[in-house]
Amino acid sequence: MTSKSGTGLPACQSVLPQPSSLPRSLLRARWPVLFGSLRLQLTAWYLAFFSVLFLLFCLLLYGTLARALERRLDEKLASEAATAAALMREELDEMGGDGPRAALDVLSEMQPAATVIAILEQTKVLAASSPIPGPELRAQAAQFLLAPSADAVWAMPRWGRNGARAAARQFTRAGRAYIAVAVEPLDSIVQQLRVFRDALWFTLPPLLALAGLGGYLLTRRGLAPLGAMVEQSRKITGESLNTRLEVGAAAEELSALAVSFNELLSRLDQSFESMRRFVQDASHEIRTPLAVIRGEADVALANERSAAEYKESLAVIQEESRRLSRLVDDLLNLARADAGHLQLQVRQLYLNDLLADCCRSLQPLATARNIHLECCPAEDLAVEGDEELLRRMLWNLIDNAIRYTPSGGRVSAAIEVDGPEVRIRIADTGVGISPEAAGRVFERFYRVDQARSRQHKPETLSGGFGLGLSIVKWIAEAHHAAVELTSRPGAGSTFTVRLPRA
Ligand code: ADP
Repeated sequence: MTSKSGTGLPACQSVLPQPSSLPRSLLRARWPVLFGSLRLQLTAWYLAFFSVLFLLFCLLLYGTLARALERRLDEKLASEAATAAALMREELDEMGGDGPRAALDVLSEMQPAATVIAILEQTKVLAASSPIPGPELRAQAAQFLLAPSADAVWAMPRWGRNGARAAARQFTRAGRAYIAVAVEPLDSIVQQLRVFRDALWFTLPPLLALAGLGGYLLTRRGLAPLGAMVEQSRKITGESLNTRLEVGAAAEELSALAVSFNELLSRLDQSFESMRRFVQDASHEIRTPLAVIRGEADVALANERSAAEYKESLAVIQEESRRLSRLVDDLLNLARADAGHLQLQVRQLYLNDLLADCCRSLQPLATARNIHLECCPAEDLAVEGDEELLRRMLWNLIDNAIRYTPSGGRVSAAIEVDGPEVRIRIADTGVGISPEAAGRVFERFYRVDQARSRQHKPETLSGGFGLGLSIVKWIAEAHHAAVELTSRPGAGSTFTVRLPRA
């Protein structure tokens, strides 16, 4: 068995990913050298979001204010036009229809300040309180005369520097159409809006600075438990894997992170512990046959011996080295299975033939121990699996059943088909296993009683190390099968392997 590690990669091959082959998320994570800190990143996002929100709010407020000011001006102009029309009606009645004089009287009576009042007869301007752009007003009046309504409001963009708004009321007297118009430039509205705009511009920078500072302080406060967790996790080493992060009163997401980190630590701790135990047990098991080999060799070499004595020593050394190499093979297989490197050689096989083969090869052992071995392999039963591994599994179970059954006992090996499942049942009338031990017999290196294992398996190659049933378990699991044990101390044990047929 040669390990591929260390030789699998050509010496010149680089194992580091090239920048161009880096995943996008990693590249994205690299760009913000300035914003490497999550705190600054969150603050920047918060500030950007707040700025957009504030800008939208300002635009909305500005639009609403501009519309409200315009509406108020329109209402004022409409009321002034209505007053001028009412006065004009009265003056016309008093002056017997003299339009120009009546219009002048109306203007002197009203004395408008910012508003310009103009009285028109048809499209002819009779009088105006200030100079007005006559052609524009006459064009509007001509249009208005055609409209069915008595009132109108319109914009006059070419009036003055900022344009103006106008409102008009029309009426007829003695078959003549008169229009009273009130016009006011938008200068004061523009002025008010400018003041408002300036106020916004001046408050924006300090407001954003405050928002940024607030965001920074908030994220610092929110992420403080994360910093504490980093500090704690830095102190955890291979020797202190039983340390756990304090979950405390951190925010939900951070406590979830701490909890899952703690769970990861527990799993690591468990696998470190089982690795440590495995290494300890394995070295312990390897030490015993090595001590026997060395002792035997020391004794043989200490004095001149006869050829028969040398032969005897070499036989002991041979036996122990065989046991040792079988143990090392088993350990390697288990380690490779754990690492997922063991490839199953799956093919179709007849389970009944396999069981019959195992019974045949173990029959001499059963006979030697005066055990009645009964094999009921049933009819032809094709399943998919790794023949060598399944043979090893059946062999281990029957071998155990024979070895842990006293002379005169019975061992039976049978196969049953139950729907989509095949059950392989190995039963004996042996020493049995106590309920406490039954929960642990599948663990590596576990033996109910070390002395008893060696006593029952003195000559077997793999026996006595407490690895047989753990090998059975991983072979079963590799075939998506389960192994069950029912046992009564003193009455015997039954191991059942439930194997899916497909
Ligand atoms: P070992 O090689 O030491 O027998 P195994 O993993 O095969 O290791 O078995 C683990 C323990 O389970 C053994 O020490 C033995 O005591 C017990 N055991 C296994 N099979 C049987 C059985 N059929 N009857 C009674 N005890 C058993």
